Amino acid sequence: MKPLAIFGGTFDPVHIGHLNAAWEAAEMLDAEVRMMPASVPPHRTAPTASAAQRADMLRAALRGQSRLIPDTRELDRAGPSYTIDTLHELRDEIGKRPLILLLGADAFAGLPGWHRWRELFDVAHIAVLQRPGVSAEFPDELEKAMAKRHLRDLAGLRKTSAGHVVQLQITPLEISATRIRELLKDGRDARYLLPVGLFDDASLLAPYRHD
Ligand code: ATP
Repeated sequence: MKPLAIFGGTFDPVHIGHLNAAWEAAEMLDAEVRMMPASVPPHRTAPTASAAQRADMLRAALRGQSRLIPDTRELDRAGPSYTIDTLHELRDEIGKRPLILLLGADAFAGLPGWHRWRELFDVAHIAVLQRPGVSAEFPDELEKAMAKRHLRDLAGLRKTSAGHVVQLQITPLEISATRIRELLKDGRDARYLLPVGLFDDASLLAPYRHD
C-alpha cells in the first residue's frame, strides 16, 4: 500500500526548501505527501502571516501537481494542535496503511520537547530529512529511541504501519523562511527561493513586505 506521509510546518512562507524536500521524499518513499500548516499556540511567537494567509500561499504553491496535497485540518481545529492527535486522527482514517511523519533534521532534534513524543512511534514512522547546517547528531534520548527503530532500507517502511525511523539524503538546499522574511522586508524579491505561484497574486506575499 502506498504510504501516506505528512510534512508539517509553519510555512511562513512555504519555500523551495520545503517543496523540494517534500517532493524528493515523495519520490524516495513512493508516498502520497500531505503538506500540513501548523496552527501556532498563543504562547509561541506568532507567524508573520495569518493561518488563512499561510494556507492560501500553500495552495498557490501546490497548484498544477497532485503529488503534494495541502491539508489544513490543524488550522481548522480550535485550540492548540498536537502532532500526536493529528496522527491518531489520520490513523483512524487510513487503517493499517503505513503513515510517515517527515521532519527536517532540526525539527527532529527538537522532538523530545514535543507533547507525548514517544507515542509518535506507535502511530507513525519518522523520516528525517537532511538539512544543511544541521548536525546529524541528536540528543541522547533521541539517539536511544532511534537505535532500536532505525532502518537503512527505505522499502522496509512499507512492511509495517508505524515504528521505524529512516534518514533521507535529499538535495541540500540552504533556504529558510526566516531568511526569506528578512529579504522581503528589505524590499528584495527572493524570486527563486519561492515557488512561482506566490508571485501570481501580489496579496500573497504582502504580509512580509515593508510598506
Ligand atoms: P523558519 O525559518 O521560520 O523557522 P523554516 O524554513 O525552518 O522556517 P518551517 O515551516 O519551520 O520552515 O519548517 C517546516 C519543516 O520543514 C521542518 O520539518 C523543517 O525542518 C523543514 N525544512 C524547512 N526548510 C528546509 C530545508 N531547506 N531543507 C530541508 N527541510 C527543511
